[in-house]
Amino acid sequence: MPNFTQNQLEKITTDIFEAGGVPSDEAAIIGELLVASNLAGHDSHGVLRIPQYIGLIESGLIQPGAPLEIERESPSHALINGNWGFGHVIAQKAMSLAIEKAKSSTISAISVYNCNHIGRIGSYPMMAAEADMVGITMVNAGGTALYVAPFGGRDGRLATNPIAIATPTREGHPMLLDITSSVVAQGKIRVALNRGDSVPLGWLMNSEGEPTSNPEDLMESPPGALLPLGGIVGHKGYALGLMIDILGGALSGAGCSGSGNTRLQNGVLMIALDIANFTSLDDFYEHVDGLVDHVKASPTAPGFDEILTPGEIEARQTADRLREGIPIDDETWRQIRETAAEVGISELEF
Ligand code: NAD
Repeated sequence: MPNFTQNQLEKITTDIFEAGGVPSDEAAIIGELLVASNLAGHDSHGVLRIPQYIGLIESGLIQPGAPLEIERESPSHALINGNWGFGHVIAQKAMSLAIEKAKSSTISAISVYNCNHIGRIGSYPMMAAEADMVGITMVNAGGTALYVAPFGGRDGRLATNPIAIATPTREGHPMLLDITSSVVAQGKIRVALNRGDSVPLGWLMNSEGEPTSNPEDLMESPPGALLPLGGIVGHKGYALGLMIDILGGALSGAGCSGSGNTRLQNGVLMIALDIANFTSLDDFYEHVDGLVDHVKASPTAPGFDEILTPGEIEARQTADRLREGIPIDDETWRQIRETAAEVGISELEF
């Protein structure tokens, strides 16, 4: 299994996208964000996506360099038409704008449509946390990718509709919640399917509404469905997913689940909140640090060694992979080289 440094993998990614017709400034953003996902341990949203995104460029669904248009704007909000540019690029610019506006307005909200897949959504609120703000990102799938059953239903009516919230801490990693409103991301079912593995009971139901551990049941005709987050209290994950669908899809105009749309996009909402306009940063950190110490002091339950905070696993993984390198499995590496050859790079340099 090959192993790469952050710089090597960013160069490989950037070179492939540039050769695939992406302007160099955009290719650099994509390289940075895909590799950041690998660093954080979320390989499902990292360089593994290179072949898929190059394919979307070739089919015209991603339009590199498309101008981002601000269609409505006030000091504290904007509505952006992404014009089907690269999702990661649009999302990074949207959160930058949210941070900029929150500096003068304290709180800002940016809504985006015509935006391709933005990848790991936790990357964007982290930008706000690094600017001493609270960042919130949520997306729907513009009415596509209907894999998740509503609570009490037995077919897929919603997308996995994730939400991410980041807050800075005085020292160490920002706190980062980055979760789907379904029990798991749909990609995890695909991984199990490819490996021939079963999935835990509680993730899926078959088309009869019965619990199943067979990942193929999600792709059957008629298909089964992913369960909303929450297990026996799945009404909570369902309600969260529905609200994210509205905030991501209705506010932006991207479209909600059930709209009949067939072109995958992320309907995006970015929010930034300037902490220092509510309270001093020192007081804020006192509260956050106290909270972290409080939960971490809990005696551990059987099967647990320690209490973690959201974002801690990713921060540790990032430190490990910065030190030891980022392993890329053989099949993913083969596909990346194949894609590089398709865009005219016979030998990758890194
Ligand atoms: P997950 O189940 O791995 O949960 C990740 C979250 O849980 C993180 O905040 C992590 O820090 C926290 N966490 C994990 N273990 C913990 C522990 N022991 N204690 C405390 N916190 C802990 O992630 P997921 O819900 O499967 O989502 C996977 C990724 O998929 C996310 O990065 C999401 O952004 C991405 N996604 C993107 C889209 C899109 O359309 N762009 C759609 C769905 C999912």
